[in-house]
Amino acid sequence: MDAVLERLRAIVGDAHVLVSVEDRASYQRDWRGRYQGDALCVVRPGSVEEVSAVVCACAEHGCPIVPQGGNTSHVGGSVPLGTGREVIVSTSRMNRILAVDAPNNTITVQAGCTLAAVQEAAQAVERLFPLSLASEGSCQIGGNLASNAGGVHVLRYGNMRDLVLGIEAVLPDGRIWNGLRGLRKDNTGYDLKHLFVGSEGTLGIITAAVLKLFPQPRSRAVAWVAVPDAQTALDLLGLVASRAAEHLSAFEIIDASAFELILKHIPQAKSPLSSVSPWYALIELADSNATSTLQVLLEDILATALEKAWVTDAVLAASQAQIEALWALRESAADAQKIEGISIKHDISLPVSRIPEFLQAAEQALTEHFGKIRIVAFGHAGDGNLHYNLSRYEAERNAEFIARTPEANRIVYDIVASFGGSISAEHGLGQLKREEICRYKSEVELDIMRSIKRVLDPAGIMNPGKLL
Ligand SMILES: Cc1cc2nc3c(=O)[nH]c(=O)nc-3n(C[C@H](O)[C@H](O)[C@H](O)COP(=O)(O)OP(=O)(O)OC[C@H]3O[C@@H](n4cnc5c(N)ncnc54)[C@H](O)[C@@H]3O)c2cc1C
Repeated sequence: MDAVLERLRAIVGDAHVLVSVEDRASYQRDWRGRYQGDALCVVRPGSVEEVSAVVCACAEHGCPIVPQGGNTSHVGGSVPLGTGREVIVSTSRMNRILAVDAPNNTITVQAGCTLAAVQEAAQAVERLFPLSLASEGSCQIGGNLASNAGGVHVLRYGNMRDLVLGIEAVLPDGRIWNGLRGLRKDNTGYDLKHLFVGSEGTLGIITAAVLKLFPQPRSRAVAWVAVPDAQTALDLLGLVASRAAEHLSAFEIIDASAFELILKHIPQAKSPLSSVSPWYALIELADSNATSTLQVLLEDILATALEKAWVTDAVLAASQAQIEALWALRESAADAQKIEGISIKHDISLPVSRIPEFLQAAEQALTEHFGKIRIVAFGHAGDGNLHYNLSRYEAERNAEFIARTPEANRIVYDIVASFGGSISAEHGLGQLKREEICRYKSEVELDIMRSIKRVLDPAGIMNPGKLL
């Protein structure tokens, strides 16, 4: 192993090959603290040429590679297995904005740019890069692409797959593919960039990308509302969508359990409403026109919803600070749950119309099987994505419950599948769901995926044990 370390040091410099246990520690443990791997080293290349040379060196020495961005993966995709032979290739030093083409509405960035840095660079030219995640200060564009990140504005702008026009990647044999085209129309054969989107580091290392920019929203109206049940939340979504049309930019739902944890664990969190409710929705309308009357429109929609008793209480943000405070409530749901303790998490998607049926069927089946459990559900209802997390109310009984994760998964995922949903809406498969997925994808689909992997990575050195 000394030979490969020497080779890597010669490529990137001594300072960027991290070997000691302390230096490797934060790269080997996943964000949720669920997976602890063991790598040979962490390498931090500074250019696409260095990435290419690193990949060649690893391939020659038979060292598997784990591409890593911000290491915020929720499925253990970005950390090594326990073999001690893998090389983590961190893109953190490749964090330059390469070009901003405002008239073309594109930005070209290196893979190690954080999502927040790209948002800021877009803002500097009065544009919007619309991907928005609670992890945006840490996660990187390469990781966002490799996991096809979603977030809160998919309803309006789509997920990462919809936001990318071009990709540069280093293939498992070290060749550099430069597909950095900023074109909206390019029908010249297979669209290879989409192979890398959602590939979770199993087909190569993304080193740069051309991303789409949009006009900046100049007016926003945001409301936090109480709704009696999930079906009513969806009725409300239908009403807002039909009245606000393209101005609807987010529709998030949060159940009472999730909200209770936010208020319990997030010091600055305060309920904007005076009463408690089984469900809440956060609605955002946005427009690039600064003189838009979105506030009036949302007020009007909510008045109709109140009349119909679809909404039992509501607050409309009156300032930018209030907008941010309402969004902060929604965005702290994951952190609040993390503080409360470990839970069995499901990131699922369903046809929007089937969410209420799913919630009812899953709760009934889980309660029959496990007795009383805490169900925490929240998510991007506008695009059918729910985070559906389970634990015991009593902390001392939780470990025994967590040990029964396979039983809970089987119940939840079988119901998801029966409603035509997906067992991974936006977090990917990683280590967490790589076996599970075999039950829900057809043999044909799995065979196509394995064939693509074999063609691009015949030696299987790219992120082994993830996704497939
Ligand atoms: C608080 C919090 C909130 C989150 N909210 C959301 C959300 O709303 N929606 C959502 O979709 N996700 C969410 N996530 C999950 C996570 O942030 C996203 O999946 C993010 O896109 C991962 O980016 P990253 O740079 O951290 O990637 P990493 O975690 O480092 O890696 C993720 C995967 O991509 C691969 N990879 C990383 N970089 C590259 C590269 N350059 N080339 C090839 N493969 C690569 C890794 O091997 C791994 O398989 C959240 C995470 C946190 C911690």
